[in-house]
Amino acid sequence: MEKIFCSHCFQILQTGCPTCPSCQQRVGYLSDVESRSMLLKMLLDQRTEVRSTAIFALGWRKDRLAADALVACALRHPSNISQGLQIVKVLATIDNGTPLMTALQYLMARHPGSEVKQAAFYALSQH
Ligand SMILES: [Zn+2]
Repeated sequence: MEKIFCSHCFQILQTGCPTCPSCQQRVGYLSDVESRSMLLKMLLDQRTEVRSTAIFALGWRKDRLAADALVACALRHPSNISQGLQIVKVLATIDNGTPLMTALQYLMARHPGSEVKQAAFYALSQH
């Protein structure tokens, strides 16, 4: 069955609930594809808090297809260390498959922040 997502907070929903159990808003449903495309757009937002919401939501989704976009987001904002660390944490929980290893390795090689590099190194060493 196809998953559906809250249009406010992007949590995965059960069909038929009138309000979202996570954010308590009246539910607007998004399909898997709609939800991903909105979240990927949000990663391009200039506002840190909007990007942060998207990063967490992509983590809940365990969305492997978002790995490259997450890495790109971290590299677009190299001085935002806390967000870089958040992205490493999400990448580490999405999957331990090959695409994700590549994403973490790429981040470790390219990110200028030593804390982010170390976090990526640590996440890789756990696999
Ligand atoms: Zn919600």
